[in-house]
Amino acid sequence: RDARPSDAPQPAIEIRHLTKHFRRRDGSTVPAIDGASLDIQDGEFIVLLGPSGCGKTTLLRSVAGLETPDSGAITVGGKAVFDSGSGTNLGADRRELSMVFQSYALWPHMTAAQNVRYPLENQRGARQGRAAMNERVAEALGAVGIGDLGGQYPNQLSGGQQQRVALARALVNNSKVVLFDEPLSNVDAKVRESLRIELLAMQRRFGFTALFVTHDQAEAMELATRIAVLDRGKVQQFGTPDEIYARPATEYVAKFIGNTNELHGRRAEGGYETPLGLVRTPQDAGDQATVLFRPEHAELSAERPGTASALPGRVVAVLFMGTHTEFLVRSGETRMRIWVSGRSTDFAEGDEVWVGLREDHVMVFPAAQDRGDQ
Ligand code: ATP
Repeated sequence: RDARPSDAPQPAIEIRHLTKHFRRRDGSTVPAIDGASLDIQDGEFIVLLGPSGCGKTTLLRSVAGLETPDSGAITVGGKAVFDSGSGTNLGADRRELSMVFQSYALWPHMTAAQNVRYPLENQRGARQGRAAMNERVAEALGAVGIGDLGGQYPNQLSGGQQQRVALARALVNNSKVVLFDEPLSNVDAKVRESLRIELLAMQRRFGFTALFVTHDQAEAMELATRIAVLDRGKVQQFGTPDEIYARPATEYVAKFIGNTNELHGRRAEGGYETPLGLVRTPQDAGDQATVLFRPEHAELSAERPGTASALPGRVVAVLFMGTHTEFLVRSGETRMRIWVSGRSTDFAEGDEVWVGLREDHVMVFPAAQDRGDQ
């Protein structure tokens, strides 16, 4: 049943052909998870990414044991925790993992130390003595660098300190797997940025395997060793941030990660014929295709470039964004956004320009009507 060679490392989490339907009020059912499979290795930081309703929370809660899938199998640390075939379904408290909830979900009426002690007090099986528990709590708080804050209540702590308490609580049981349900979603952008960096440092230091849910693609790119992009309960692509950005498997992934410019293309000699001219590419996505390229992958020039694909247009706006300058270029009905790094004054509103595209920066996908799924 297990085709893996015996010397291969045991995945930290293995999700196999998982499905979960919810019943709507009108009696119809929605697939929240639709045949999802993921192999997650020890120490990885995995992000489940997708828009609201794509099923990421349901998938996370299924691993946690807070949701019962219809079918499929899940292992954690090599141990079957759910298997619809054999009827295995361990309760949440018997899966060797911890969960960090939205906004950390610290108990407001408990001190930091009491919050961290909570899972130890509610542990199944052999309970430890008070002294042993206190020692573990002090260790955990010390490990995340807030050994002196055990007596504080959550509302007396900064966002960063609250995150550390939540992590100490997740790690106090020696969990090797920690699940995160959008923990940073209610934090303002600046603080969020520093919490992310800190979370990553903690994860590297403790070496736990992280499964982290977010709808924020920048957050996913920054945190993940690998990202699973979900759409309507299906894993569209599972890969490193680089792979997902540079070689998106589907149009959906290409548009969800990063920014894109879009043209309709009809297959022609050497590439695709678009309303703005031939876009050269060796890729073949059928007769009718959606041609995409990213704003940072195009170059503007006054003269028609010799080698690259060249699309004519007129600059209709120039926006300085700090890290880059955005040129809005219009050509007939088509609008394109082109980014030049830093502050660029090369072109101004009203200038006629050429948008140059290298072959390796062009992405083509079967046009919607050819895919038969829209
Ligand atoms: P969000 O980011 O908004 O939480 P999500 O990607 O985490 O979204 P899920 O919460 O997993 O998505 O929901 C997936 C689908 O299942 C959605 O269509 C949702 O409406 C539906 N769903 C989730 N939980 C339930 C439930 N308890 N009862 C009925 N439908 C549900």
